[in-house]
Amino acid sequence: MSFSSVHGQAEALAFLQEAMRRGRIPSAYLFLGPHHVGKRTAALTLAKALNCAVAQDDSCDRCPSCRKIDEDVHPDVETVRPDGQFIKIGQVREVGEHLGLIPFEARKRVVIVARAERMNPQAANAFLKTLEEPPHDTLIVLCANQAARLPDTIVSRCVPVRFRLLPTQTTRELLEKAGDLDADTLDFAVRFAQGRLRPELLGKAAHWMKLRDDMIHCLTELQRPIFPQLSESVARWSASEDWRFVLEWLETWFRDLALLGAGAPEARLINGDRLDPLRTCGRWFTSERAEHCHRQVLATRDALLINANKTLALEALWLGFKHATL
Ligand SMILES: [Zn+2]
Repeated sequence: MSFSSVHGQAEALAFLQEAMRRGRIPSAYLFLGPHHVGKRTAALTLAKALNCAVAQDDSCDRCPSCRKIDEDVHPDVETVRPDGQFIKIGQVREVGEHLGLIPFEARKRVVIVARAERMNPQAANAFLKTLEEPPHDTLIVLCANQAARLPDTIVSRCVPVRFRLLPTQTTRELLEKAGDLDADTLDFAVRFAQGRLRPELLGKAAHWMKLRDDMIHCLTELQRPIFPQLSESVARWSASEDWRFVLEWLETWFRDLALLGAGAPEARLINGDRLDPLRTCGRWFTSERAEHCHRQVLATRDALLINANKTLALEALWLGFKHATL
């Protein structure tokens, strides 16, 4: 994948290519921006461009070096990812040991640290030593969603490069090209993506759209005295990975309701393609109530991430919505 196939990040790419042209590649970059907007792809493309046997300041995708990097078998280009929840000290030490050796074949050795914000304190401390004494002819690229989640001592030793949410049109074009979604599902996927192309989006869009409509149905029925489908739905969501989508989507719904109540234009609503049920719910969810429910969704998400009982937490959340309508 050459630089031209990294989409929606023109500013970041122009900055990187200019540094290459001028021969001013630093020892460490910090690629900063939301998840799933192309940071790691850009880092791999940079690794290829720095070592390509054919192209100038870009990758050809055909020479042995480019192909090895694409196949993740290049001995001098390495990606470190969280092992479970964190990047651990053992992983960082291993990188340090590799960097102590002479590169096998690369002009520029490249270490990419994906989700660098997940380095635990010991790992970050060990990593700092590598950054303080960068080995010759090595580039380190840290990818992170927020600089604030990394120690200042690490951030200050890297050249920051900003990555942004993908423009809506770019998201639409990429999804259209990548899969065979019907018009409604494509529209839903673009709206729900919110500028981030997570890998599971394409495969899950149709299922998620149906889940969304089930939830919208429940939300518009909140004021009825009995709430029969709730236990059944909660059991289904809890038994699968659907609970993650349920919470993520509820966040968008209550955000939309808060915006609607505050008189925001329809174009700003993520669920603007479901305006009628939004307006129905807007009758009892004032901006203030919607914001309260939004906070409850976030609190439930945090609780479930540290292993609370899914069924109990989701049931309590939905009963809380019902209570908020009374
Ligand atoms: Zn090449």
